[in-house]
Amino acid sequence: LVSRKEKSEDTVINVNGELIGTGAPSFVFGPCAVESYEQVAAVAATIQEKGLKLIRGGAYKPRTSPYDFQGLGLEGLKILKDVSKEYGLGVITEIVTPADLDHALDYIDVIQIGARNMQNFELLKAAGATNKPVLLKRGLAATIDEFIHAAEYIMSKGNENIILCERGIRTYEKATRNTLDISAVPILKQETHLPVMVDVTHSTGRRDLLLPCSKAAIAIGADGVMAEVHPDPSVALSDQQQQMDIPTFNAYYEELLKFMKQY
Ligand code: PEP
Ligand code: MN
Repeated sequence: LVSRKEKSEDTVINVNGELIGTGAPSFVFGPCAVESYEQVAAVAATIQEKGLKLIRGGAYKPRTSPYDFQGLGLEGLKILKDVSKEYGLGVITEIVTPADLDHALDYIDVIQIGARNMQNFELLKAAGATNKPVLLKRGLAATIDEFIHAAEYIMSKGNENIILCERGIRTYEKATRNTLDISAVPILKQETHLPVMVDVTHSTGRRDLLLPCSKAAIAIGADGVMAEVHPDPSVALSDQQQQMDIPTFNAYYEELLKFMKQY
């Protein structure tokens, strides 16, 4: 169902008035994790100022160590909802288990399925049975074919609104947190009719690479870019190394706009 052979036109997904998949890049910025109302609101204000329509932030955080911050859970969803109303933004947030899905739907606009859950087939099927758009991330070590099959799980349950997100894969290279597989973007666009985004934060794990990799994503035809922004990354409860503070984010976005004008 996700194949280009089944449907030749691009799927376009409307989230809070933002059309994802038209060819013009959409942007998803926001903190790694929801930590407090004030923290999310500070980022939301700068997103709104730029005329952008979407915000991200994790309420349920899949962490490598069980002793690391696991997210605020339902409290985090409530913060996201309050901030999104106040600033007029659509909310993208990760759900990690089917058990949380039903009640989460009242708080969010897009269900994110994270890299670690790309082959959580019960979660894929449960998200497929909802009518919310799903942002599906590529698994840590998933082939493109496995990624496409994961999207098929969602669509097979009736949900056609799926955004694919390349977020880097594990290789032997240690210079970056993961290896951004930029060629996955045109391959996914050829093989499927779905919008394809690039998460530059989790793929690189390096603040200094966010701008060049965002440019690469746009140049190669991605439908959008995701990156993390935190009012003070030095005290962030997750991903301190890779989130942009707000002045850095402002400069990053300005450079990106200049870059896009060349197209
Ligand atoms: C995230 O976007 O918050 C996240 C945990 O990313 P990934 O699933 O790509 O690691
Ligand atoms: Mn993160």
